[in-house]
Amino acid sequence: MIPGGESTTLWRLSVAFEVLEPLRKLTGDGLPAFGSCAGMIMLADRLADGVEGQQTYGGIDMTVRRNAFGRQVDSFERDITLAGLGGSGGQGDTEDPFRAVFIRAPWVEQAGAGVSILGTEQDTGRIVAVRQGQLLATAFHPELTPDRRIHQLFVDIVKDNT
Ligand code: GLN
Repeated sequence: MIPGGESTTLWRLSVAFEVLEPLRKLTGDGLPAFGSCAGMIMLADRLADGVEGQQTYGGIDMTVRRNAFGRQVDSFERDITLAGLGGSGGQGDTEDPFRAVFIRAPWVEQAGAGVSILGTEQDTGRIVAVRQGQLLATAFHPELTPDRRIHQLFVDIVKDNT
């Protein structure tokens, strides 16, 4: 799990604690990982609006733009429709929208052919949830809402890859 927070801090601490290269190798070699928000940024192969020299673990063939939805005060919640979520997490039908919490959130500006697009934010049409193989990433924070469908999807990915 690569949590939200602040991706330049995650990068700097990863370098300081010498885990950047090991984690880059692990995500590239098939370790399942789920990143939300800053975690999504860390799983991106390419960044837009990164700070000078900012590095990621990578693994998902996508360009992610940091702070794309605006500053902290522009944070918002919105129902979005997500594709490919088996099970409802006790929250109703699989067709139920997902209440997504965006906190100074990134979006996916470009995704390669191998990336499955799981969800977009309707006002901007921007990609906000993706999967590539055993790597899953959301621009929003599913840990802040009771809906467990994304957690369940990640558990299923882990089961399928161990
Ligand atoms: N904007 C932050 C960043 O660039 C991410 C915000 C978040 O994780 N909620 O890392």
